[in-house]
Amino acid sequence: MTIIAFIGLGNMGNPMAANLVKAGHAVHGFDLVPENLTVARDHGVVIMANAPAAVKDADVVITMLPAGKHVLSVYEDVAPKAKTGALFIDSSTIDVESARKAHATAAEHGLLSIDAPVSGGTVGATAGTLTFMAGGSDAAFAAAEPILKPMAGRVVHCGGDGAGQAAKICNNMILGISMIGVAEAFVLAEKLGLSHQALYDVASTSSGQCWSLTTYCPVPGPVPTSPANRDYKPGFAAALMLKDLKLAQEAALGSGAVTPLGSEAAQLYALFNAQGHADADFSGIINFLRGANT
Ligand code: NAD
Repeated sequence: MTIIAFIGLGNMGNPMAANLVKAGHAVHGFDLVPENLTVARDHGVVIMANAPAAVKDADVVITMLPAGKHVLSVYEDVAPKAKTGALFIDSSTIDVESARKAHATAAEHGLLSIDAPVSGGTVGATAGTLTFMAGGSDAAFAAAEPILKPMAGRVVHCGGDGAGQAAKICNNMILGISMIGVAEAFVLAEKLGLSHQALYDVASTSSGQCWSLTTYCPVPGPVPTSPANRDYKPGFAAALMLKDLKLAQEAALGSGAVTPLGSEAAQLYALFNAQGHADADFSGIINFLRGANT
C-alpha cells in the first residue's frame, strides 16, 4: 500500500482518486470546495485539512488542478513539506513553461516529478481508462507507471520535463482543427443535398476518416454514442477545448512554430464560447458554423 496525496478533487480528480482507493492505496485528499471533499470521502479518500497536511506522510503526490498558476502555487506550498524522495505527478493540463517550473521546484527539494496530463475525460477517469502522457526522467517515469496503472488504459513516456504537456496540446490542436473540418464538411453536404449518412459512409472509409468523424461525429445518427445524439451534452466541453487551443497557441508563439489552422481554431472556439456555449460539447461548433445560435 502506498500513501498518495491527491490535491484537486474536481470532475476528474475525484473519480481518479476513487480508482486509487479501489486499487488498495491510502489516499489523503484535499480540495478547496467542501462539496468535492464530501464526494471524495464517500469514495474512501481520507480528507485532510489543507494541502501541506495531505502531503506530509505521502510517498506520492498527485495534483489535478485547473491551470499552471494553481499547480505552481500548490507546488511552492507543499514541496518543502514532502517526504524526501517523494514522487510528484501533475496530471492537470497546463502550459509547458509552468510544467517545467513545477519540475524545477520539485527538483530543488530532492523530489522526483513527472508531468502526466490525460486524455479520456470524466468517462475515462471513472472507468480507469485514461491515456497518460508523461514527461520526466526515466527514474521518475519508472516510479510513476505502477501508480498511474489503476487510472489508466495507456501510459506513454513522451520524453523529458514538459514532454507530456507538449504531447497533450499537440494532440488537442489536431482534435480542434479536425472537428472544425468535419463539421464544415457536414454543413457543406447539407447545402449540397447530401445526407449525413452518405457523407459518413464515404468519409469514414476514405481519406477523410478521423476520430472527430468516426467517434465524435458532430451530427446525430451515424455514430449513436456521439454527443450530437444527446443535444451536445459533453463529453468534452467547448471551454476545455478553448483552454487547450490557447495553450497550443502560447506554445507556438513561444517556440516559433507556425500554426495558422491552430490559431484559426482557437478563434472559432473563442467565438463559440463567447456565444454562451462554453458548457456544450465541442462538437456543437457545427451549429455555430451553420449560423445558428443554439
Ligand atoms: P475541476 O474544476 O472540476 O477540478 C479542479 C479542482 O481543483 C476543483 O475542485 C478546485 O476546487 C480544485 N482546486 C483549485 N485550486 C486548488 C488548490 N489550491 N488546492 C486544492 N484544490 C484546488 O476541473 P477538472 O475537469 O477536474 O479538470 C482538472 C484538470 O484536468 C484541468 O487542468 C483540465 O484541463 C484537465 N482535463 C479535464 C478533462 C475533463 O474532461 N474534465 C479532460 C482532460 C483533462
